Amino acid sequence: MNNILGVFNGKFQDLEKIKVSPLSRAYTFSDSVYEVIPFYNNNIIAFDKHINRLSNSCDALNIKTDISLCSDEILHLISTSNHKNGYVYYQISRGVDALRSHMYDTSLEVETFGYVVNHAFESKDLKVSLCEDIRWQRCDIKSTSLLGNVMSMNQSKNNHCDEVIMHKDDEITEGGASNVFFVIDGNIHTPSLSTKILPGITRELLISETKQNGIFIEEGNYSVNDLLRAESIWLTSSTKGLGQVIEIIGHDTKIQVNNEVFHKCNEIFNNAFLSG
Ligand code: PMP
Repeated sequence: MNNILGVFNGKFQDLEKIKVSPLSRAYTFSDSVYEVIPFYNNNIIAFDKHINRLSNSCDALNIKTDISLCSDEILHLISTSNHKNGYVYYQISRGVDALRSHMYDTSLEVETFGYVVNHAFESKDLKVSLCEDIRWQRCDIKSTSLLGNVMSMNQSKNNHCDEVIMHKDDEITEGGASNVFFVIDGNIHTPSLSTKILPGITRELLISETKQNGIFIEEGNYSVNDLLRAESIWLTSSTKGLGQVIEIIGHDTKIQVNNEVFHKCNEIFNNAFLSG
């Protein structure tokens, strides 16, 4: 790993040189939250929404931080990097806790960490598998506790897939690192926001951008069978944009590659955020 610009507790330095205490609660409890903030052609995509979600994640875990300092650091990482297209990973943990106590001391000093990397925003065709959503019950918090996602996604990788689509008690939730959209009879659907899914920023941008173009996306509760009836499925995330699903392994589906509704939504999204 060479020349990746990082920042740790306010100090900008090579990512490789950053030293972290093993007693950071980010290690011992995954007591931390994060954001991935994309930029394209030197324009940050939905910066305020990312900062707002980071702040909400901190509030949900009662991690007290100066969010404006964090946003300054993110902006500095982007402006001093030589990348035109990329993203910043930024993490806030409750800090170093010598006692490793479940019940944290409110006087701990928050620990912040980020880095910036180059990223090509290329829409990728995705092979996915379906799996039971084994995660905790507050998936709306963007916490670094991602073992449920990691386990499921690696199982799916062993089956030569790129992503998973999860379901809880037969209800579709989201992808392992993305939100899910699907089309039945020309109508677009996506699971409603709840504590079961992350309020994805790409999801939100797509819903509002398509609406402005006269395309309505219905938010609701959907079963595995609904998904399997779809003529088009795609996943959204800050690093993927829209990625169409071309196969759900182990299932016969009616998925059409390059379906026209998908194509239109992808075009609207790319014109709004990934062009110029
Ligand atoms: N759900 C999960 C579980 C994710 O990890 C991500 C990516 N961070 C998303 C949804 C998509 O969110 P966003 O569009 O804000 O990147």
